[in-house]
Amino acid sequence: MANRAKSEFLANMSHEIRTPMNAILGFASLLEERASDPEDKEYTSIIVDNGKTLLKLINDVLDLSKIEAGKITLKNKPTSVRAIFKEIEDLFFLTLNQKNLKLETFISLNVAEYYIIDETRFRQVLVNIVGNAIKFTETGKITLSVDSKSERNSPIHHLIIKIADTGVGIPQDKLKQVFDPFVQVDSEMQQLATGTGLGLTITKRLMELMGGIITLESKVGEGSTFTLDFFNLEISNDKQVDETREYEELKKIQFHNPLILIVDDNLSNLILLKEILKPHNVKVITASSGQSALDKIKLQQPELIITDIKMPKMNGYELLKKIKESSFFKNLPVIAISASVMKGDESKIQAAGFSGFVPKPIDKFFLLRLLEKILPHTM
Ligand code: ADP
Repeated sequence: MANRAKSEFLANMSHEIRTPMNAILGFASLLEERASDPEDKEYTSIIVDNGKTLLKLINDVLDLSKIEAGKITLKNKPTSVRAIFKEIEDLFFLTLNQKNLKLETFISLNVAEYYIIDETRFRQVLVNIVGNAIKFTETGKITLSVDSKSERNSPIHHLIIKIADTGVGIPQDKLKQVFDPFVQVDSEMQQLATGTGLGLTITKRLMELMGGIITLESKVGEGSTFTLDFFNLEISNDKQVDETREYEELKKIQFHNPLILIVDDNLSNLILLKEILKPHNVKVITASSGQSALDKIKLQQPELIITDIKMPKMNGYELLKKIKESSFFKNLPVIAISASVMKGDESKIQAAGFSGFVPKPIDKFFLLRLLEKILPHTM
């Protein structure tokens, strides 16, 4: 019971923190794009950066508690190691340039094209370790390599990924401890770096979940090498549909002027969504409660509804139920928005009959990608 109470408390807390964070980050990003004065731009970008750090901390704490509570299930599917390596190169391209560091990647020939693994968690592990390697290296390079201990055509592979850096290194007596929560090495450079001290703890637990281990060798002043062993990875010949679309392309998407109704009791969220949609040729009307939404649906007949889940009096589920009960409007697509990220929420939202789900803080591209599937548009 205590454990369940803890999970519920965390779910509520994450919801309560993420909702205002959504407004803070969303509006600061909009201001940053719009600011013409360099000082204004700098200040807003500081707000955005710190907002992101705070959100990362919240997400890390939540992630770790979910792992600890055994609430994480892996979603295994054919995943391309090559594609993920390429993503990592793109993701860190700017940071590497800024620090004048090189990232070299090596993919051994006996590495298969696709492995059955949880792509999100696999990427998360690599992003954590490569991110640390860059963070704690001032000169030299980072090497990311992957090799398979098995024959290329064997169905199960033992995959070994090594991330080596030429950075500050970690003292011998800290090699084990850095995997414990909130442990950070206490050197001068390490103190300058920002972080939560949770990255390696999460990484270690995720590796164990994926049937692997993480090990570390390091020498102060010379650098560190993290080794990820995935012992029994099944290879797959399925081609994976490539869903990654250039953001630039999506940025230009134009809908055919549909009327969209946004429902949220929080005024700043309403304005934020309106601002996000504004450049994409849509007409937006808003409602601050479920009842007022129902009135507007009857009067103005929107083509799509985006609703918050958590609202007083009539919540998103109840609103959806009312819409589905009406013979006129039952086919109207309704998208849910929610800050709640606990396990089960997403499947509950899908089962309720929503046409899609957007987590908070709202990611502009996530929302556009979803709308692209529902509304007629031109690129
Ligand atoms: P964070 O990086 O957020 O502080 P981590 O759990 O990812 O937390 O790492 C814990 C600590 O381990 C870091 O604060 C740092 O002191 C040390 N560390 C991790 N990776 C490296 C590395 N590649 N080189 C040197 N020190 C590292």
